[in-house]
This record gives sequence, structure tokens and C-alpha cells, in this order.
Amino acid sequence: MPSSKRVRGPVHSTAQHINPESYILKIHSRKYYEKVKNTPFFKVAYESIRCVLTSAEEIENYNLVIVPTTATGHQAEREKWRGYSFFNDITILVERLKDKGYEKIAVLETDAHHSDTYRICSASFYCINGDRKCEVVQEMKCRISRGLDKEDYLKRFSRVVDLIMDDNPEIVIWYLGQDLHELEYSGGGLDDDAFRAMIEKFMRIETRKIVIISSGTREDVFERIISFFESVPIISA
Ligand SMILES: [Zn+2]
Repeated sequence: MPSSKRVRGPVHSTAQHINPESYILKIHSRKYYEKVKNTPFFKVAYESIRCVLTSAEEIENYNLVIVPTTATGHQAEREKWRGYSFFNDITILVERLKDKGYEKIAVLETDAHHSDTYRICSASFYCINGDRKCEVVQEMKCRISRGLDKEDYLKRFSRVVDLIMDDNPEIVIWYLGQDLHELEYSGGGLDDDAFRAMIEKFMRIETRKIVIISSGTREDVFERIISFFESVPIISA
């Protein structure tokens, strides 16, 4: 299928031959995995990892793949869950992409919360803090994200995307925290216009892009974020 084709809704060519368990166990210990299995969240987290792994297959057919997640996320550590993240989906996706032969993988992480994913993930990490990465963290909150006004946030975002483009990765993963939106629970200062501007900037990256949409509780915010992606012209890889 041409990479410019837009398809909305569930994809059917799920990566059936890929075993989510084997990828989860590349990052998390067997002991920890068994512990998650005994929680009511396991099935949801497992399916979320399956969706994330499927995005690594779908990206062969499209320039952009968006994958909403739940119960998995950037806050999961090797042996510990945090903030409703049971498995670290970013790191698991990077492992899968490496197995598929990708060598230069960039991760752009924007969320109202801090994570230590950059410590366990072998991709190049970029976040809104730029060279002050993870300098100001309190109670796992990203203080820099929350402290910036909209204009400064967008300036920094634009600069970080330029850095990614300069590094010319083969594939970019954007971990997009919906909780930065002003209507969500984190006291974020970004409105619809800011999200639209970020998405327009991000879409200028000409390489393959996987967007993990995480956090947030509001369906209306989610729908609008998706609509901003849909209204940006797609540049073929
Ligand atoms: Zn968050």
C-alpha cells in the first residue's frame, strides 16, 4: 500500500507471529512478569504491548502509525510498575525495531511526568528539557514541562524536532502524553492550538514515525489530537 494512504481504525494484519511475552521478557525479569500476571491489569497491559509490537509491522506500510496505549508506558521500570505503567512499551518497541534491522532510532518523549526510560532504552532520547534533561524532577513530575508557558514550550518543542531532523534517524517514536493538555489532570498549559502546532512540526520529519499516545482521560481531547494528525499533509518517507 502506498505510504501516503490514510487508514483509520483497527489494522488487521496484527503481528501474530510475534510473541509479546518474549519481548516483555527482554526488558522485564521473569519474576516481575509473573507478578504482573497476578494483577487484574495483566490482560490489558499484554494487549497494549501486542498493539505496540504491531505498530513495528505496520510502519513498513505507512509513513505514520499511531498507537494508543493503556496500562503500559514510559514509567515502568525493569522490576517495578509506576503510574499505571506495567510494561515499558517504548523500550519494548525499540527492541522490536532493532530486531527488524533499524539501527538509528530516535525517541521523543513529551509528557507531564518524568520517566527514567532513557536509562534502560538504547535509542537516542529527546525531550522538552533539551540539554537540561531530567534536571528538575519532583515526585516523578516533569517540572520543566509544567513550568513553561505555551509559547516557550512550543519553542523548545520546535528546537527538539530540529535536533532530531539533524540527526537523521531511520525511525522516530513520539511518546505523546495527552496529560499535557490543559483539560487533563496534570495542570498542563497546552491547549488545542499548541497540540496542533506540535503535531504539524513533528509531521515535518520525513522519516517513518510511530506515535504512542499515552496518559490522559478525556475522549474529546484524544479525538481532537487524532484529528490534528489527520489534517496534516503526509510527507512520504
Ligand atoms: Zn504522564
